[in-house]
Amino acid sequence: MQYFTDLVDKTALITGASSGIGLHFADTLAKAGAKVVLAARRVERLKDAASQINAKGGTGSWVQMDVTDRESVRQAFTQAERDWGSVDIVINNAGVAGGGRALDLSQRDWHAVVETNLTGAWYVAQQAGREMAKGNRGGSIINIASILGKRVMGNVAPYAAAKAALEHLTRVLAFEWARHNIRVNAIAPGYIVTDINRDYLDSPAGEKAMQKIPQRRFGSVEDLDGAMLLLASDASAYMTGTTIVVDGGHLQSSM
Ligand code: NDP
Repeated sequence: MQYFTDLVDKTALITGASSGIGLHFADTLAKAGAKVVLAARRVERLKDAASQINAKGGTGSWVQMDVTDRESVRQAFTQAERDWGSVDIVINNAGVAGGGRALDLSQRDWHAVVETNLTGAWYVAQQAGREMAKGNRGGSIINIASILGKRVMGNVAPYAAAKAALEHLTRVLAFEWARHNIRVNAIAPGYIVTDINRDYLDSPAGEKAMQKIPQRRFGSVEDLDGAMLLLASDASAYMTGTTIVVDGGHLQSSM
């Protein structure tokens, strides 16, 4: 059985596909044969990325989606279903950084992160679940959590809290939706160099952070492909409610 290339009849919708991990995952899933739907707010980037996927022989389309807007999420799924019939794989990846000293955080600081990274992820998961539950056709939802949801450091209160909650939400939804053939899993990346953290990782503080990673390097988006393809494909048919950590061993040392 060709597990990892067995996505030929599948459609995957990826949120946060305009940059970083989501953009890369769209490319990887297209290479694995899936039809991919790239979703985010910056549509010019999505158009470019979908064109590049199509130029390479893949099948890519795009939908505008703001994950903090429930109606926008619903409409994006409706369009994806209209284009491709069904959505079988959802990479629930859109996210923002943000934080600061917990004593100084404003209400706005808190909500800016939690509304995208937790509430937005919930809107996407719920909409995906509703589509996949129709006729119990099922599917795989992959939530992008973080090692900061497992372990703490300073100045990241809303981010860490949202990611920990997302991981727990993963377990609840896996429990509730197994009866509909829906699997819900998460990936908890360590530091992966993208726009979300490039400035920090390039700074002296980032250099210090690297010394705490047993593999002594930051991850690349490609480092996440194995976990993502495993969870997207039938190779993980008996896995649900699981979080796969991909962090170069970072969780094994002190933050
Ligand atoms: P990027 O900043 O490169 O990508 C974030 C993506 O999220 C963008 O495509 C952005 O698109 C999208 N996004 C943000 N807000 C919204 C919104 N309201 N609606 C729709 N899309 C939105 O960062 P990464 O690729 O690194 O981050 C991807 C995920 O991985 C995030 O959830 C992040 O928390 C997680 N993660 C990243 C780690 C890392 O080290 N890089 C480590 C652990 C987890 P647009 O602005 O066009 O809407």
